[in-house]
Amino acid sequence: MMSESAKRPKRKTLPKFNSPRTALCTCPPKYNINPYLGRCTHNCLYCYAIKFPGFNGKVTPRLNLKREISEMVEGTRRRLPVMLSDSTDPYQPLEREYELTRGCLEVLVKHRFPILIVTKSDLVVRDIDLFKKTLTVVSMTITTCHDDIAALIEPNAPKPYARFQALKKVADEGIPTVVRIDPIIPTVNSDLNDLKQIVSRASKIGVKQITASTMKIVKGLPQLMRNANLHLYSRLMKIYSEGEWIGGYKYLKRNLRLGILKTLKAIVQEYGLEFATCREGFLELNTTICDGTFYCRKMLDGFLKHK
Ligand code: SF4
Repeated sequence: MMSESAKRPKRKTLPKFNSPRTALCTCPPKYNINPYLGRCTHNCLYCYAIKFPGFNGKVTPRLNLKREISEMVEGTRRRLPVMLSDSTDPYQPLEREYELTRGCLEVLVKHRFPILIVTKSDLVVRDIDLFKKTLTVVSMTITTCHDDIAALIEPNAPKPYARFQALKKVADEGIPTVVRIDPIIPTVNSDLNDLKQIVSRASKIGVKQITASTMKIVKGLPQLMRNANLHLYSRLMKIYSEGEWIGGYKYLKRNLRLGILKTLKAIVQEYGLEFATCREGFLELNTTICDGTFYCRKMLDGFLKHK
């Protein structure tokens, strides 16, 4: 005879961030929500998400997401941080119309979940009012200060200047901020002066941490690059031909990666900021947690203890 609990439908919970996607991920446990499916319209030339079937093709707003999240939070006990998002930008242009990210935030804030935002969009400032109601860390991806380079590798994303301006507004509200130089692409945005300028501007607007990575090639990316810029494609395929495959990702040669990240760390420390690497296997370089949760975890752990 089936027990009562077996008859009850399994309670939905918030989806966990799927860190085992690659051996080198060092993210602490957290939840992850992608308000949009399909190919993110920022259309970055290096986007790893194209590796996953759900993030190709026409961008698709998840219209029932707020209702789904409302059910999931009821079934979710641990108040781990919730990341928006790992495989699509939560503030891509459609968000102005559908406000799906904002809808999610309203539910998560009401249930006091800490929030981790990862974006390239200045639309993020729209939700500062919600960020102030719970533990929030905003990470802005800024891979170059040069508009022409940004236009090449992040064709539909807001210009670097607009991202810095938006991040300043968030930081001015006392919300911890992180700049992600993610990824660094050799011969494209690896120029030392450009990297220095990113760090210097970040420190001027009160950013706490720089998280960096080098580009990893996934299935489908060479074709994207070839279509976008044949010269760039040939140059990068030559450089990566000496690299190594790790967990389904083609990495740059190890000593080249280490050299780039060590040099950047020295610059970051010159400006007194924290530094972390993302999925590089160089934990010894990290002075803090890669995803920015250091700024909500301390209070979070204390919160958990009382729970
Ligand atoms: S913003 Fe992020 S998810 Fe969107 S295309 Fe760029 S790398 Fe991919």
